[in-house]
Amino acid sequence: MFNQRKLEFDVVVVGGGSAGVAAAVGAANVGAKTLIVERNPYFGGAGTHSSVFSYCGFFAQAEPLQQVVGGVGAQFLAELSAIGPEIEPRRNPASGNVIVIADGEKSKYALDRLLLRAGVVPRLHCQVIGAQVQGNRVVEIECVDHAGRLTVSADAFVDASGEADLTTLAGGAVRFGDDEGQVQAGTLVMRIGGVARDVPIARELFTEAIQLGKQAGIDTLSKEKGMVLRLASGDILALFVDESVNGLDAASLTAAEMSARQQAWSYLDVFRRHVPGFESAYLIQTGPALGIRETRHVRGQYTLAGEDVLSGVRHLDAVARGGWPVEIHQPGAPAVYQQIRDKSYYDIPLRSLAVEGFSNLWCAGRIISCDAIAFASARVMGTAFATGHAAGVAAAQSTRFTHPDADLVRAELLRQGALV
Ligand SMILES: Cc1cc2nc3c(=O)[nH]c(=O)nc-3n(C[C@H](O)[C@H](O)[C@H](O)COP(=O)(O)OP(=O)(O)OC[C@H]3O[C@@H](n4cnc5c(N)ncnc54)[C@H](O)[C@@H]3O)c2cc1C
Repeated sequence: MFNQRKLEFDVVVVGGGSAGVAAAVGAANVGAKTLIVERNPYFGGAGTHSSVFSYCGFFAQAEPLQQVVGGVGAQFLAELSAIGPEIEPRRNPASGNVIVIADGEKSKYALDRLLLRAGVVPRLHCQVIGAQVQGNRVVEIECVDHAGRLTVSADAFVDASGEADLTTLAGGAVRFGDDEGQVQAGTLVMRIGGVARDVPIARELFTEAIQLGKQAGIDTLSKEKGMVLRLASGDILALFVDESVNGLDAASLTAAEMSARQQAWSYLDVFRRHVPGFESAYLIQTGPALGIRETRHVRGQYTLAGEDVLSGVRHLDAVARGGWPVEIHQPGAPAVYQQIRDKSYYDIPLRSLAVEGFSNLWCAGRIISCDAIAFASARVMGTAFATGHAAGVAAAQSTRFTHPDADLVRAELLRQGALV
């Protein structure tokens, strides 16, 4: 009645966000028999499950437009354009930051298409809960769905879980948050309808409305300055609802989700009362899940430092590029930015993706080995595509007991259209 409960693959990717999908496609393109395991009913991670629709990190701040992520990331952008309408990078005239907006439904479909075309075996609704280790190798993972447990063995694994679940289950070294154990804020994204297309979206109007609400005694409002975006559909995305949360702990997450929903209704109330044109605004959706920016970081063979990022460092074993400035979110406070030198990019070395103490375990996305400042840049989704792609290729090229040479990984990434 049920599918086979014991599976064997060349490469298994845990987590199907931006990093995981790129890793799986990259590995499959090398010729590896590849499985991707995702606990949600769709791929995309925060880009779909928390409605983070603005993709940062595909382009640096430099002018003219400088693309810093190619390969699977570029295929994703092409797939979005093929679904239509054509995606257009948007530059913020004040900051110079360049983003790409992708509605969650389009992202889900585009990622399905990328995975299927590459021949990756997808497994949704499936959570990884255990890992078997022999010596310095992960040999098998344990997963659970409603039918029970299943096990998957493989030659190499990529941890793209966003929370470093696989590395932790395998006994690898991780750090929670920064050196003091502090993490960036969690945020619940609000999608708002009922606002005419010609209503101007000026950020200061929202700040004034929130301040008026606070003066009137509403104490369930956190941030005064947040991000507000108009989608092609005419809907508004608003990122104001911050929570201090431990994204690993169900009790903390439950309290934060419920408090965030209360905040969202308070924000809607003050926008309706005080922002011109928002009188009939209504909440289309929150989340679905509270967005978690940060929990664990893997300890790799090299820890990318804030100084590397800000100075635009170059590495001989570079396998990915980061082009987004450092962006730090403390709960309730406006985002703080620090520029990369020359508004260009920095290199991410293969060693930051190699999990310390393991010969066949790689990490990708927001958990790569970096300090708190470097994380604040490397965490964005464009960069997650780049580190994921590199980790997937490295995993597919790992022999049974050794890491591939960085030159080999770089050559294959170039063959697959990556920018390294
Ligand atoms: C509120 C908020 C706003 C943000 N704004 C932006 C922005 O504007 N632009 C931008 O580019 N980035 C933004 N980011 C950052 C960005 O969204 C993340 O850093 C990025 O999604 C990281 O990609 P990832 O693939 O590493 O992880 P994720 O997107 O978190 O994906 C990890 C995936 O792994 C799955 N998973 C986890 N554990 C398991 C398990 N044990 N078994 C199976 N599956 C598992 C999860 O379900 C998830 O789908 C924002 C983040 C937040 C929270």
